[in-house]
Amino acid sequence: MPSIKVLGQLVKELEEQLVACMRCGMCQAVCPLFAETGREADVARGKLALLDGLAREIFQNPQGVQDRLTRCLLCGSCAANCPSGVKVLDIFIKARAILTGYLGLSPAKKVIFRGLLAKPAFFNRVLAWGAKYQGIFVKPVDDLLGSSCSRFLSPLLKQRHFKPLAKSPLHRLVPAQNTPAGAAGKKVAFFAGCLVDKIFPEVGQAVLKSLDHHGVGLYLPNDQACCGIPALAAGDTAAFDKLVRHNLALFGSEPFDYLVTACATCTATLKKMWPLMALDYTAEEKSQIEAIRERVMDISQFLVEQVGVGEPRVSGGDKIPVTYHDPCHLKKSLGVAAQPRALIKANPRYDLREMAEADWCCGCGGSFNLQQYDISAAIGRRKRDNIAKSQCAVVATGCPACMLQITDMLSRAGDRVQVRHAIEIYAESL
Ligand code: SF4
Ligand code: SF4
Repeated sequence: MPSIKVLGQLVKELEEQLVACMRCGMCQAVCPLFAETGREADVARGKLALLDGLAREIFQNPQGVQDRLTRCLLCGSCAANCPSGVKVLDIFIKARAILTGYLGLSPAKKVIFRGLLAKPAFFNRVLAWGAKYQGIFVKPVDDLLGSSCSRFLSPLLKQRHFKPLAKSPLHRLVPAQNTPAGAAGKKVAFFAGCLVDKIFPEVGQAVLKSLDHHGVGLYLPNDQACCGIPALAAGDTAAFDKLVRHNLALFGSEPFDYLVTACATCTATLKKMWPLMALDYTAEEKSQIEAIRERVMDISQFLVEQVGVGEPRVSGGDKIPVTYHDPCHLKKSLGVAAQPRALIKANPRYDLREMAEADWCCGCGGSFNLQQYDISAAIGRRKRDNIAKSQCAVVATGCPACMLQITDMLSRAGDRVQVRHAIEIYAESL
């Protein structure tokens, strides 16, 4: 392992960004983690101070800093509300990569990220096997929510109520496609993402139905890889690079007007993290990443801004009350909040009612949920309470990771509320 001095030099590369933090503490008011724990090391200011201490070689415990750094949802609430414009997520992601490079990756994470996730064909085969035999280990718990729980005491699954793997992933339900622009005069590439492909294929089908309805040409390769964010969040840039390059080989030189996803996290990763971490890539790869950055957008943004979904339609009869949860990666990272609501309002069978704190984080945070389930669930219960108070029969959102977390919270509370993606509600009206 290199000396702590070398690590200090590496972290110093972030110094220009670290000094932007004025230590004002305004991030405390918006950090969902700090709201639960009240610990300074959990909020952006505390984490930035720890990194500053590492850069100045005041702290000699890189593992301790890494542990505190990974206690974070990467929700971006702090960055979105920082008066000094500190690029908190960029700093955290780069710092995690530096620290993991210095400390090494655990054997379990090596197997998961490099042995499984970074090999898309093998990953698909393993999950197909998992979908076939998951009934041995899990049992259905709520028909309305489609949630399951573990049959046995499991340190990994704990008391979670989760959505099981779909019987058939999207890439098996829908063949690869490459069709020209139709009535809309536009062609898009669809990046499915792991959760839509393997757990919520119905969300992907709703996307494809909507695109087809509007006469949008489609490029859909079916050997897509993960966007890379789970590996990157763990600091594993080797696995991240493999995934980015796999996807670049599929999407990098294809002619399309926009690249759409139905996953807020995938969109934010392609738009912000790929360019941020593409420093050592070839000039051609960098220009492909830049071209994707310019054209990637959430499906709701594409339909509302580029195609047009029309004015909210009115119908008689009873309407289904629906509320909407803003995914952090959609609203805080990409500024997309009105568009998914417009999709919902375009379905006259639904009545959109705002819940309190619609943009307060649901507590998922990807691997944060796996590593810090108790805190993740505590944050999630606040979201569940606001959904319950809205008295709606449906909660819609724009990110499959949020759908998983909200399903868990509602199912564990015994609430009779359906969890839908906004695009599903829109597609129902077509
Ligand atoms: S990260 Fe921003 S909001 Fe938080 S203490 Fe620093 S300057 Fe203030
Ligand atoms: S990204 Fe979210 S959880 Fe992490 S420090 Fe910022 S507000 Fe808190």
